[in-house]
Amino acid sequence: MERFSERKNELLPTHFYNIKADLAEQPKPPLHPGTGEPLDPAALEAIFPKGFIAQETSRERFLPIPAAVLAAYAQYRPTPLVYAGELRKALGTPAHIFYKYEGVSPMGSHKLNTALMQAYLASQEGVRELVTETGAGQWGSALAYAGERFGVGVRVFMVRASFRQKPGRRILMTLSGGRVEESPGPNTEAGLAYYRRDPDHPGSLGIAIAEAVETVMKNPASKYALGSVLDAVLLHQSVIGLEAEKQLAGQGLEPDTVIGCVGGGSNFAGLGFPFLRRRLREKKMTNFIAVEPEACPSLTGGDLRYDHGDSAGLTPLLYMHTLGKEFIPPPIHAGGLRYHGMAPLVSHLASRGLVRAVAYGQDKVFAAARTFFASEGILPAPESAHAVAAVIDEARRAREENREQVILFNLSGHGFLDLAAYEK
Ligand SMILES: *Cc1c(COP(=O)(O)O)cnc(C)c1O
Repeated sequence: MERFSERKNELLPTHFYNIKADLAEQPKPPLHPGTGEPLDPAALEAIFPKGFIAQETSRERFLPIPAAVLAAYAQYRPTPLVYAGELRKALGTPAHIFYKYEGVSPMGSHKLNTALMQAYLASQEGVRELVTETGAGQWGSALAYAGERFGVGVRVFMVRASFRQKPGRRILMTLSGGRVEESPGPNTEAGLAYYRRDPDHPGSLGIAIAEAVETVMKNPASKYALGSVLDAVLLHQSVIGLEAEKQLAGQGLEPDTVIGCVGGGSNFAGLGFPFLRRRLREKKMTNFIAVEPEACPSLTGGDLRYDHGDSAGLTPLLYMHTLGKEFIPPPIHAGGLRYHGMAPLVSHLASRGLVRAVAYGQDKVFAAARTFFASEGILPAPESAHAVAAVIDEARRAREENREQVILFNLSGHGFLDLAAYEK
């Protein structure tokens, strides 16, 4: 037992990696939504815990992970780095495929990595309640679990359509002591207007964000938590890539290609940024591929400009690839990829040609998920299946060119609570 825990700790990073320390040119700063001037970080204190703002604005290369958070990580981290030998055989490719499996976390996805850190920071400042929104429930369930662990209440505005049609994660949130309410609802001004017009209004992520932010602004003991997009969230997810770097190095390997799906960009950045560091500093020619759905193509189809993070226009303006804050994505099954914008850091790196973006349609993605399930025995989350589809394309190309190469991708979550999407 003793030896086992020692080995675990060896692979577990003690610091987060902040890619901003290695960028020659910084992304454009966020702007105040009212004045359009660069945002004073103090203005964010009404919404976020101070510790979170300090991380969001830091340029330090490595930021220490608090002991209490490390202890929570150690329950499911390091996550396995798996050699996809059966998938390789099925594809008849000379490429070696590895995946980092984040589905082993208690809530089944990478989102817990940042949820734990955010709940910890809130607990250190006496925050009573973290308020957030959730679509299909991956983020809400991760935050509810993390909140319970660190003694912080969690209140979740859940898009009504999901609340009624996808009870699985709503039940999970309740089991963790989270307060879940249907959005739009009667408890906020932002929700009431919609609710009065139609108590069965299906809702949207944009409306749910507006309800969460309004709740926090009215209550000083509450703070807001966001599950992707922001620099600090990407920072927390760097534990994925830092572990993978050590796990691959243990076998004398480095990836030639790193692949992840992108909704707001956090799981892709979490795996990719520690390897991008070597490309920035040591000029290693690693390829980075970000995979998004054709139905919500912010990197491949959006503009790089300032836009709000929510549809109501309450959040600061972020310089990012966006389809426009009014964009309502069609109801694709990969709920976690239905976001109009993209992390400013991922947008910045894509615009510099360091990250290549591709967009895939739903049929191709579900076919890839089945291939992966049949060969590797894990049903990917519909979001993660986008990465799998790109891996299969790269592996086939390697076969055509008879090129032995190492492909690393992020299996950001499992699909066991998304079976209805698979049935459809
Ligand atoms: C939320 C989610 C995503 C998309 O969010 P990112 O911030 O782009 O990582 C991807 N995969 C899973 C399993 C998710 O829950």
